[in-house]
Amino acid sequence: MSSRASKAEHIRRIMQAEGDAVGENTRGFNQGRYESVGDLEDYENLKSEARAIKEDAIERLPELIDQLTETVEENGGTVYIADDAEDANQYVAEVCAEKDAGRVIKSKSMTSEEIDVNEYLEADGRDVVETDLGEWVLQVADEAPSHIVAPAIHKSREEIAKLFNEYFEPEEELETAEELTMFARAKLGELIQDADVGMTGANFLTADSGTMALVTSEGNARKTVTVPDTHIAVAGVEKVIPSVEDLEPFIQLIGRSGTGQDITSYISLFTPPVKSPTVDFDDGATPITEGDDDRDFHLVLIDNGRMAMREDDELRETLYCIRCSACSNTCANFQAVGGHAFGGETYSGGIATGWEAGVHGLDSAAEFNDLCTGCSRCTEACPVEIDIPWINTVVRDRVNSGKDPNMEFLVDGLTPDTETDGPDLQKRLFGNFETLAKMGTMFAPLSNWAANSTPAKYALQKVAGVDSRRDFPAFQRTTLVEWFNDRQSPTIQDPEARVVLYADLYTNHMLVERGKAAVRLLEALGVEVELPKVPGSGRAPLSQGMIETATTKAGKVSAALSPYLDDGYDVVVIEPSDLAMFRGDYERMLPEDDFEALADRSYEILEYAYGLVANGADVDALRTAADGETVAYHSHCQQRTMGLEEYTLALLDRADYEVTTSDVECCGMAGSFGYKEQYYELSMDVGENLGEQLREADTDHVIASGTSCTDQIEDLLRDAPMHPVQLLDPAR
Ligand code: SF4
Repeated sequence: MSSRASKAEHIRRIMQAEGDAVGENTRGFNQGRYESVGDLEDYENLKSEARAIKEDAIERLPELIDQLTETVEENGGTVYIADDAEDANQYVAEVCAEKDAGRVIKSKSMTSEEIDVNEYLEADGRDVVETDLGEWVLQVADEAPSHIVAPAIHKSREEIAKLFNEYFEPEEELETAEELTMFARAKLGELIQDADVGMTGANFLTADSGTMALVTSEGNARKTVTVPDTHIAVAGVEKVIPSVEDLEPFIQLIGRSGTGQDITSYISLFTPPVKSPTVDFDDGATPITEGDDDRDFHLVLIDNGRMAMREDDELRETLYCIRCSACSNTCANFQAVGGHAFGGETYSGGIATGWEAGVHGLDSAAEFNDLCTGCSRCTEACPVEIDIPWINTVVRDRVNSGKDPNMEFLVDGLTPDTETDGPDLQKRLFGNFETLAKMGTMFAPLSNWAANSTPAKYALQKVAGVDSRRDFPAFQRTTLVEWFNDRQSPTIQDPEARVVLYADLYTNHMLVERGKAAVRLLEALGVEVELPKVPGSGRAPLSQGMIETATTKAGKVSAALSPYLDDGYDVVVIEPSDLAMFRGDYERMLPEDDFEALADRSYEILEYAYGLVANGADVDALRTAADGETVAYHSHCQQRTMGLEEYTLALLDRADYEVTTSDVECCGMAGSFGYKEQYYELSMDVGENLGEQLREADTDHVIASGTSCTDQIEDLLRDAPMHPVQLLDPAR
């Protein structure tokens, strides 16, 4: 079986076993997030505040670690800075040996998962017990977490009941959630009473006072800290923030972002060693207040690659992550498959690529990095404004560099990109879509027939992993630019504006009709349109991690458009993923002035049309709705992230259409993702959610803004949707 086929098989197995539970829970969290942050008036400011604190903390990290060390030691605790997992585990094992600890209890901590401390201590003869319910379930099941906040999210209540009944053989079979919880509570209560050492992580550590914040949904972390007389906290160095006051935005955001709770059930602030006396559970006579309050506290701060990440301009942002899980819950691929496929050795979800690359290395990140399609829905959800798709792209680029040099030599000669290191053939094929599009048009319709013939599909799947179950969209013999240049342009007296309509690769070579509709729509609203030949935006190579090629394209696009910008033209874009390049990704690829000139004057077509109508253009010049004409609309993921969906809705409302919108985060196609053999089934599974919503809406028309969404919806409904400009096209 090829590696692509075995990856497809792996994903299929996990989707079948865990997809339903993961999907239901993550969508619930995601919906909860929308509702909970919707109640926050100053949500965007809070995110910026949290971001600024993390930026400052990571900038001053060595100084803050020194300050924290001093305060913890003044408080009576000990700080150990561990270089790596082995170093940390050795220290923890030594403390446990000193205490002659028979049992170590733990509250939930991803950092302790990262260093595999359980296995280390168990090999040393200690009984290690997870006290977080989800973690305990997984310990009993001998499984790894599938989600950074809700580790057993992939397990249904029925599966947990079966597990407990078989493992513990209780007198009465357990069935309901309450029975399971009460059983776990009683069992864990007994285990906690006899513990000698308690281990926690820390969500935040404040350098000014040595305070640690633990944000949990259960009370077991408090018991872990207070029942045994020895407390070991294991935390990554990035958890240090300057002061207790700085906790405020994080406390407001972390529960809302992760599970949609305005505040989690337990927010515990400890300044250890805590002063409360320990309880001797065998001694019912002595008052608790007279118990022994001689406690030990050890803070193990773990580097394990983090200081190198801090020096790495691209991975540094990962250290701002507060592990809230919003990026997992909002990710359509994660919702379908969960962290056992969308994750590495320890971490899962979108940001896991950065963590895995930083702490475990590129090989672990490479296992799942391609599952990020760059849809960008996570960037809006992230409470510390991390550009998660960019981190994924950078890691993809680095993974590409490690490919087989022999293959690279072969592929280098065949492809026109400017990569100096070698992405594999599949990535190069999709990354060089501009060349394919030009050739496809040149030889159309023969190229369409050939590409969709059975032998060609078989060969493409075999050689480059292009899934044969997909049909290729048809290339048009006449491009949009050629059509525009050949036609008789209408004379627009006193134009409202002058625009360059960006002929993106898909509109220019394949979806030419939507381009023609866009021209007619703009002209009907009194706009003078120019349609020059401009290169592809670089979105296709960027999506494959080919940053060098994308950067070259960005320079060419900027050069082609800047004379028009200098001359007062606006740039109007049909394809949202290209606009996302102009407004976002180009910031990293162009000189600042060039980026700003283009970003400031680029508009999505419906955004622009709405602006014209709002400023007096006549909406009746467009194709308005017949009585009760209904539309189901799926907005492109990047269009939603840019906050542009509302303009389409507002214009459709002005044109009297009755609109139903989908709430699916991404259609699942995501450029080339759904064409890849290893991801085809995942792509269709993600899409099915959208398909169901569109079928249920049962409207006169289905419209979608992006090329990927159009292709995916056509496959799902067996009928191609229109672009909104086609619905509003005066010539329809
Ligand atoms: S990257 Fe952002 S959204 Fe994702 S877990 Fe970290 S803080 Fe949360």
